Amino acid sequence: MQTATPPLRLPKVEAAADSRPALNPPPDDKPLSAYFPPYSEGDERLDRYTSIPYVFVHAVGIIGAGFAIAYGQVTWVDIVLCVAFYYLRMFGITAGYHRYFSHRAYKTGRAFQFILAFLGTTALQKGVLWWAAHHRQHHKYSDQERDIHSPVQRSFHWAHQGWFLCGRFDKTDYERIQDFARFPELRWLNKSFRAPAIGAVVLMFLVGWLIRGDVMGGLRAGLWGGFFSTVLLWHGTFTINSLAHVWGSRRYQTTDDSRNNLFLALITMGEGWHNNHHHYQSTANQGFFWWEVDFSYYILKMLSWFGVVWDLRTPPRHILENRPATP
Ligand SMILES: [Zn+2]
Ligand SMILES: [Zn+2]
Repeated sequence: MQTATPPLRLPKVEAAADSRPALNPPPDDKPLSAYFPPYSEGDERLDRYTSIPYVFVHAVGIIGAGFAIAYGQVTWVDIVLCVAFYYLRMFGITAGYHRYFSHRAYKTGRAFQFILAFLGTTALQKGVLWWAAHHRQHHKYSDQERDIHSPVQRSFHWAHQGWFLCGRFDKTDYERIQDFARFPELRWLNKSFRAPAIGAVVLMFLVGWLIRGDVMGGLRAGLWGGFFSTVLLWHGTFTINSLAHVWGSRRYQTTDDSRNNLFLALITMGEGWHNNHHHYQSTANQGFFWWEVDFSYYILKMLSWFGVVWDLRTPPRHILENRPATP
């Protein structure tokens, strides 16, 4: 005999001493499970298939980098590989996973669409359809009770990485990403997301071996371009779910607690203009003014000159002037 499952409800954060704006109340009384992905009724303990590789990459990256620094074994090649591979993959996340697959902020052909998805996949942030579907859910209920990773509703740690590492939200909500789930190559990549990341580390090893001409050169490139760069990339990206909802300024009175933050924009190639983005989600640029640095958009703009991407959406005048649209 089946027993009835009680409705899932996340513990609410006390509305304690806090100057943040009041959030919209939930529009109805349905249980949270009605709004979360359909497979999300598991518990919130760490998922071993996500958390063990996550801890392993942290351990190798941080301990290896620590030893290399302590023994004076860091060269400019190591640093260049680390920074280059960080920003290359960050572009895959911001321009690909986020602006294209989650928000359809511009158009491109099927081949470059796959390249974007592949590049984002090498960042080891799970599959492209998984990522984009969860991000759409975040925007729909941002900082409200049904937001999966809100630092306002839950803890900072939960918003930063807890939700990513637990088993409850590990499945892809295909319903929410039907527009891209119709491509078989994306469904394949979504399921096989670990292979490109492992391939990227092997490629780093080979690049280092070629540059320095020995195995040690390969290992050092794998450490800095692969492991350490991936640790930075995880936390760089995750700051947008955690810090960008608590630290920075607010141009727009959105119903969430999103912020604009120059530092976060620099480490995430423009994603730090998160209050802009929550107010008007569908633009290819998230920095709305020339002083709001947005390297993802600059690269997309350059790619548009060569016809690789097109129809880049930008904010209308009333959004830039922060006033209602005139009828
Ligand atoms: Zn978004
Ligand atoms: Zn957000």
